[in-house]
Parts: sequence; C-alpha cells; structure tokens
Amino acid sequence: MNLRVLEPATEAVLAEIPRAGVEEADAAVARAKAAYPAWRAIAPPDRAKLLDGLALALAAKQQELAVLEARNAGKPIGDARGEMGMVVDTFRYYAGAVERALGDTIPVSGGVAMTFREPLGVVALITPWNFPLAIASWKLAPCLAAGNTVVLKPAELTPLTALEFERIALEAGIPEGVVNVVAGPGSTCGARLVEHPDVAKVAFTGSTEVGRRIATGAAQTIKRVTLELGGKSPNLVFADADLRAAAEAAPWAVFGNAGQDCCARSRILVQDTALDEFMAALTDVVEGIRVGDPLDEATQMGPLISAEQRATVGSYVPDGAPVAARGSAPAGPGFWFPPTVLAPVDASDRAVREEIFGPVACVIPFRDEAEAIALANDTIYGLSGSIWTRDGARALRVARAVEAGVLSINSNTSVRVSTPFGGFKQSGVGRELGPDALDYYTEVKNVYFSTEDG
Ligand code: NAD
Repeated sequence: MNLRVLEPATEAVLAEIPRAGVEEADAAVARAKAAYPAWRAIAPPDRAKLLDGLALALAAKQQELAVLEARNAGKPIGDARGEMGMVVDTFRYYAGAVERALGDTIPVSGGVAMTFREPLGVVALITPWNFPLAIASWKLAPCLAAGNTVVLKPAELTPLTALEFERIALEAGIPEGVVNVVAGPGSTCGARLVEHPDVAKVAFTGSTEVGRRIATGAAQTIKRVTLELGGKSPNLVFADADLRAAAEAAPWAVFGNAGQDCCARSRILVQDTALDEFMAALTDVVEGIRVGDPLDEATQMGPLISAEQRATVGSYVPDGAPVAARGSAPAGPGFWFPPTVLAPVDASDRAVREEIFGPVACVIPFRDEAEAIALANDTIYGLSGSIWTRDGARALRVARAVEAGVLSINSNTSVRVSTPFGGFKQSGVGRELGPDALDYYTEVKNVYFSTEDG
C-alpha cells in the first residue's frame, strides 16, 4: 500500500510513494551493515572531501528542496530556504570535523594509554515533520562524519526531502548503502529499527511520549539513544527590558512554523508592572501576522501539518477561552489556525502545562525574579527559553537558574550549527550540533601500549 503525502495548505495529494514496513527496514539495515566496513575505512581527508562534496550538491539543489519542503510541511518559503541553508552549513561544519576527531594520550606507568573515538556501526535516525530535512541533517552529518552508516526514517507526513536527500547523496559520490531512507509508519518501520539487533544507536527527535517508547525499546539491546523531545519553553520579560523589542519579538518565538517548534516560547512570563505596555505592543504584532500560502514570499505563517494536529491545537482554545489577542487565518481548504494569545490563564491550565505544538501562547504575570524562575521551572520540560532584561547580572543569574539546555538573553534564537542543542529533564537526552554531537555518534576506546623492555 502506498503512502499518500498531502500538501497542508491545500489538502491536495502532493505525492504517493511506496510505504516502507518491517521488511524494508530490515533490508535497509542490511545494506547499511554491508556498507559500514568500507565507509569507516575511508581515510579521514577523503571522507571529509566526500561530505564537503555532499554540501556542495545540496547547495546546488537548495531552491528545489526549499520549495518541496515548503509545500510538504506547509511552511513559508523564506523559512524553508533558511532551513535548507542550514542543512548545507551543517554538512560543511561536520566535513571539517572528520579530521579533528582527536583522542587523548594519558600518562600511566609502564607505557602509554591513548583513546580513540570509534564509530558505532549502523545508526537509525528517526525524525519528525516540523523541520524535516533540517533536523535530519543535524543527525546525518555528524553521524556520517564519525564513520557510521545510517538508516533514516522521516516522519510519514513529510518524507519527500529525505528521499531527495538519499538521491543527492548517491549522486555526490557517497557510496551505496551508506545513506538509506525508509519512508514508513513509526509503529512498524520505526519500531523495527528500534528493536533491530544490528542497529547500534537510535537518534530520535519527536514527542516525549514516543521518545519514552523508543528508550524502552532500545534498552532491550542496550542501544545508545539520543532523544530530542518536546518543550514548553518560557520567555521571561522583566520590566527593565527593552519592552517594545521583547513584545515585538515574542510572537515570532511562538508562531514561527505555526507554533510547531520544539523551542516555541509558548509561556510568556511578564513582570506585572510591565504587563499592560507589553500586551499592547504584542497585540499589534499578532493581529498583523500574514497567514497564508506558503509559496507566497510575503507569508509569515502557514497552516498546521494535518487535520488531526488542527483538532488537537483547537482543543486548547475551547469556546469561552480567555483569548487576549488573535490573528487571522484563510478560509477554505488547508489546515489553518489563527495565531492566538491566551490571558489571563491559570498556571494549572493545560494550555500552560502541555506542549500544544500550534500557534497558541499563554501570557502569565510574575512579581519578582524568584517567582519568574519558579514559574519558568514549573514544567516537566527543559529545552530552551529567553530572558529579556537590561540588567546583565540578572540576565546571567536567571540563565543559570533556569533548568533548560538552550537559553538566549535579549533574543529568542536557539539553534546554531556550531553550538550544542538539547534538553534538560523530559526534553531529552544528549546533544546535537556543535562540537558535542560527535561524542554521541562515537564510543571512546582506551588502548594501553606497554613500553617495557622485554
Ligand atoms: P512523533 O513523536 O509523533 O514522531 C516522530 C517520529 O517518530 C516520526 O518519524 C514517527 O513516525 C516516529 N515514531 C512514532 N512512533 C514510533 C515508534 N513506536 N517507534 C519508532 N518510531 C516511531 O513526533 P512528531 O509529531 O512528528 O513531532 C512533534 C514532536 O517533536 C513535538 O513533541 C516536538 O516538541 C518534538 N520535537 C523536538 C525537537 C527537539 O529537538 N527537541 C525538535 C523538533 C520536534
């Protein structure tokens, strides 16, 4: 049976592709296993050149990939173009890392101890639908640079750029079997990769619920796991901040990618004395967000990914919900949902506690720094967050106190190719990007060499 891939802005069928199941997952693992010895044996400068060549090949296809991603994921074309730029940069960055996989020499008696970073073998990558190729590249590039071979299972709703990637990699000279893509459901194809005895590691991005299942499954064969999971990130705005800048930036930190962003700062915590001024500026921006056709260059927010996602998001804004600001959304086909701000909301409301993964933000006032930190940390998640203040000492004090892996001060950015990304608490295990990612695709081997005479 085929997989029907929809275009969320029109609900039309964009593509029909073969649906991979258990058999296809097994075949892909077998190909990756066969390709592993030769791939890990390639001399580091040659593997670096191959990955650099792949970055160039991806750059040449950047526009085509961006249009495909924009249509399949329903994201504004400008955003999709930015994401494809990041895919290229990620491969460039890790091409440079191949020759810098250094070990240590350790002083011991009777000889020399040295450490090597060894690849793991076949690694399964399981990815979500919100940033399909970008998130896949955060895993693919360090994984391949370290000398592993991969089986990538993209989300069944957005498999098209991953399948393109597989073709581009082959054309760019990456040997057959090193990169294998299986487009199929998580419950069959994905689950098989998690239990497969020949898979050494699973690197997963997705919901905390599925992440828990994957960690349980991987434990049966003591597979390594990296889990990048959900979030409910705080945006802390102190009264001494540049309030206009904070208020004008806040909507984009929630409504970017229609809120389908694990780093979404969906809990906007504002010091009570600044609340009225902040809300006035925020409302102006929210009401002006251009929601519409992802392929229109002027569009700032697209539709949600699916009818199911729209129903889930809608459940957080029932009739009578305290809507403080609301933007627009097109009528007609497409999984549209207007950007929505809820206030006042009680800290126990499910809209405050659960990851909505849609364009819905809650504004919550706080009195002082201690209460701001307590509210920020009152969540099972710990992925990212922002702190807006002109007081430098406070900015750093609060940044150290917030239990999250990626924080920004007077900014809402979270992701850079060269810096580590990942969560505290139930937002995940492990780090992606930056120098840290390579550690998660290698094992440390310690070799002792005796230098005793005789
Ligand atoms: P999801 O958990 O439903 O699915 C993610 C992937 O897992 C898909 O490829 C799916 O097919 C697969 N899968 C599902 N069940 C499986 C199983 N039993 N075994 C193996 N694989 C299985 O997530 P989603 O709805 O695609 O994405 C949204 C979620 O991803 C949100 O919770 C979001 O916060 C999270 N996310 C996290 C990050 C991060 O870096 N922390 C980034 C993006 C998205």
